[in-house]
Amino acid sequence: MSNAPLLAGVIGAPIGHSRSPQLHTHWLRQLGIRGHYIPMEVQASDLEEVLRMLPRMGFRGVNVTIPHKERVLEIADQATDRATLMGAANTIIFRADGKLHADNTDGYGFLANLKQQAPMWEPDAGPALVLGAGGASRAVIAALLDAGVQDVVITNRTRIRADQLSDAFGKRVRVAEWVQAGNLMETATTVINTTALGMVGKPEMRVPLDGLRENTVVSDLVYTPLDTRLLTVAAERGCHCVDGLGMLLHQAVPAFERFFGMRPTVDEATRRAALA
Ligand code: NAP
Repeated sequence: MSNAPLLAGVIGAPIGHSRSPQLHTHWLRQLGIRGHYIPMEVQASDLEEVLRMLPRMGFRGVNVTIPHKERVLEIADQATDRATLMGAANTIIFRADGKLHADNTDGYGFLANLKQQAPMWEPDAGPALVLGAGGASRAVIAALLDAGVQDVVITNRTRIRADQLSDAFGKRVRVAEWVQAGNLMETATTVINTTALGMVGKPEMRVPLDGLRENTVVSDLVYTPLDTRLLTVAAERGCHCVDGLGMLLHQAVPAFERFFGMRPTVDEATRRAALA
């Protein structure tokens, strides 16, 4: 058997902003695994060639980030049902027979984080309001439905994208007008921002937040900054707040386990490592 270090990495363009290398390197050290996790900037025109070459160089798999999440699903030889449902993959495992196996762990990461940061959360407590209808929204909705939420309300600036998601997910998912977002918070027991609003470099979230009620579970997928306006106001109003960093950390757990053979845990040290 080879005694070469285990290799994995993340591909995207650009790649400098990714926190995955700090995170995986932290777990490698913590668990005493001899391995490396390498950021790789790969252009779309080279993507397939690189993905076919990496296993021959000893890589066990890669994470995939913007802008390649959809294209890698087309290149992969096999995909999990959840990746197919998402229409995007964030993890590629290089199998021993040379096949590329695509998975999407965003929904898993969202739910694992929600359960860790808001352990009192009950899926059947009432309607879940999802702001946004992009790729992250799709993963969040699938996870909510899997967890047993009976009533998901999506609202999005561009209505047709919300309608498409509702059509894809069936009758437990309904659509409301974007201008209604503030009012809908009065009846929701879970509120999740999956839009880019509030992120550094994007517009601030202007949705009225005075409808937020005490004990509502409020989650923001945006993690730069960590204390978004949504979470700041939610905390002032006595809501249970769930920040976006935890989702990023939890979605990496299944990938790390597949790459390096041990399951890491997400704790305060993990958060510090990712923020370093
Ligand atoms: P995406 O597919 O591009 O979707 C962007 C969403 O934001 C759409 O719903 C879009 O609405 C909405 N939006 C953008 N600008 C807006 C504006 N000015 N006013 C109202 N709505 C606006 O992106 P994504 O992949 O879903 O990612 C969305 C956010 O989630 C990003 O901030 C990303 O960093 C974050 N995210 C976090 C994690 C995590 O692990 N924490 C994982 C994935 C994503 P329209 O349809 O009207 O354009």
